Amino acid sequence: MSDVKSGFSIERQGIDLRFRAAALESREWLAPNYVRVRLTGTELAGFTSLGADDHMRLFFAAGPTSSVDELRASPSREYTPLAWGENWLDVEFAVHGDEGVGAPWAATAPVGSFIGVGGPRGSAVLTGEPGSWLLVGDETAIPAIRRFASMIPSGAPARIVIEVVSESDQLAVDAPVAVEWLHRGDAPAGSALISFVEGLVETDAVGEDPFVFIAAEQSIVRPGRALLARWGVDAANAVVKGYWKRGTAEYHAPH
Ligand SMILES: Cc1cc2nc3c(=O)[nH]c(=O)nc-3n(C[C@H](O)[C@H](O)[C@H](O)COP(=O)(O)OP(=O)(O)OC[C@H]3O[C@@H](n4cnc5c(N)ncnc54)[C@H](O)[C@@H]3O)c2cc1C
Repeated sequence: MSDVKSGFSIERQGIDLRFRAAALESREWLAPNYVRVRLTGTELAGFTSLGADDHMRLFFAAGPTSSVDELRASPSREYTPLAWGENWLDVEFAVHGDEGVGAPWAATAPVGSFIGVGGPRGSAVLTGEPGSWLLVGDETAIPAIRRFASMIPSGAPARIVIEVVSESDQLAVDAPVAVEWLHRGDAPAGSALISFVEGLVETDAVGEDPFVFIAAEQSIVRPGRALLARWGVDAANAVVKGYWKRGTAEYHAPH
């Protein structure tokens, strides 16, 4: 561990928990298995998200609900707020076949469909300026990576590494460095990222005082934490998270 004090920290901030009704306004396929949707509704006024890897809970109710309790009883999953305005909110979904609730809704729900939005309620806000950046994730982490990438100052040492199935799944990502795309092909989700993370030995693979964000299928967590230990990065100043777990519906990542 370096004795030099880090130039940044992660500050926890809370927001009052709100539940909002919204509707599917439009969808745009960015890749064969990746879709951006726009939700709209007057209740989205005041929506905000302070941290780039915030999550909100989307509630996939069959139709409009008459109380918060009824809304909260519907199936829900966690997603990253990508962008928002006075009455709209954009969310991106990795579409992983017909399984589950969130992915099929994103892929097939008719325009106008009801959806509930809960939170975000707690944020980890990156404060100060990291000396360098390492952003690593699978499809589910692309929205958070987009938000972190927009914070990287031009010229700062940075690596952005994203695992997808194949070249046709690569997306345009606005960032000051080129994204390094890893292709897992038929291998289990996360395997290409695990090899990449395990191969990072020297801190100078990215730069001094790095901010590390790693999020993907749950099996990335152990090698991700080992990387922090190898690099002497304080885990409280980094994010290593399982965003979903193979074979488990509605996985709750420990926060
Ligand atoms: C903090 C946080 C932020 C997140 N942000 C986003 C986001 O912005 N966009 C996004 O798409 N996801 C995001 N996720 C991941 C998302 O919550 C999960 O993928 C969720 O399980 C999807 O719900 P579902 O109803 O589609 O599938 P579930 O009903 O939860 O699962 C059904 C089956 O599908 C499998 N499965 C779930 N997700 C995937 C996947 N991506 N690929 C392959 N198999 C899968 C499960 O293991 C299970 O076997 C985020 C997760 C966290 C913790």
